[in-house]
Amino acid sequence: MKIKTRLIRFFKHRILEPQMGRLNRWEKIVVDIPEATRGGKNSPVRFNIPREGIKLEGDHAPLPGFPKSAPQMIGSIINIRKSIYDLERNPTEGKKQIDTETLDELHSFAKSVGTSEIGYATVPQEWVFQDTAIRYTQAIVLTMEMDKKRMDLAPNPDTAVMVHETYNQLGQVSNKIAEWLRERGYAAHAGHPLGGMALYPPMAQAAGLGWRGINGLVITPEFGPRVRLAAVFTEIENLPVYDRDEHAWVLDFCESCKRCIRDCPPDAFYDEPIQHENGLVTVLDNGKCFPYFAKFHGCSVCIKVCPFNHAPYEKLKEKKTAYL
Ligand code: SF4
Ligand code: SF4
Repeated sequence: MKIKTRLIRFFKHRILEPQMGRLNRWEKIVVDIPEATRGGKNSPVRFNIPREGIKLEGDHAPLPGFPKSAPQMIGSIINIRKSIYDLERNPTEGKKQIDTETLDELHSFAKSVGTSEIGYATVPQEWVFQDTAIRYTQAIVLTMEMDKKRMDLAPNPDTAVMVHETYNQLGQVSNKIAEWLRERGYAAHAGHPLGGMALYPPMAQAAGLGWRGINGLVITPEFGPRVRLAAVFTEIENLPVYDRDEHAWVLDFCESCKRCIRDCPPDAFYDEPIQHENGLVTVLDNGKCFPYFAKFHGCSVCIKVCPFNHAPYEKLKEKKTAYL
């Protein structure tokens, strides 16, 4: 048997599969906390890429960029575990108010550990996935830039490794911010970017960090869709949470563009997005995206081709359409 095949089998069945079983038990710890906000019947069903990866048949690598991405994946799992076990270390009566000075310090700390941008949002139950839970509903939402040079190679194993590096780094950052808050008397629940317990894109949009494009990805002014998202959930009541729509024009731009839809190799976007009762919209058929994603190094073509990945946000705003 080839070495790579042995390596795939070992990683899939001896490492990833048991870890996913443990992950289920860790997540249940949060679900079982009486005060947690659990997903309800109006909540979305989570499509969990690592769990889908182990279902891949035969000797297919369970994650894009394997084997180089494997250490990053293990790092992510360690940090998901930490995000849950650290809940025990929260103060029993956490502070509920934050002053401007501490908020500025939080912002500076988040930047110093690698966050690209930071915003605040309140999370309704409808954004929490079914069968999962978040401990608190006030979210400190984080973005982290993905490397442009390596994104522009997509689909490519090096792009996939870079994506896993970003997941791992952002997961560490999310835990560091939660720890920073605990040290100052606030309770916190770090949300990992990989297999998160709630939908991050609407959170990022509500936090003013960008706007969801026609492909469902958040288009940020700084890096377009070339970001990963995470959050730290807290019970701080006076975070500067407010809905902003200054980036709403992005969706009009998308109507003139649709490049991601045209260039998607397996044609995975629905012609007519599915509107749900809870106000959420599904634009992508995971059943078409995932097989291609799994076969071609995590794909990412829809991020690579987006004009916001190449041209400055303000320039595209001025231009208004993809075709002038
Ligand atoms: S990742 Fe690839 S297959 Fe999936 S939606 Fe984007 S372009 Fe399509
Ligand atoms: S590629 Fe075009 S349509 Fe797709 S998200 Fe980017 S701007 Fe919008």
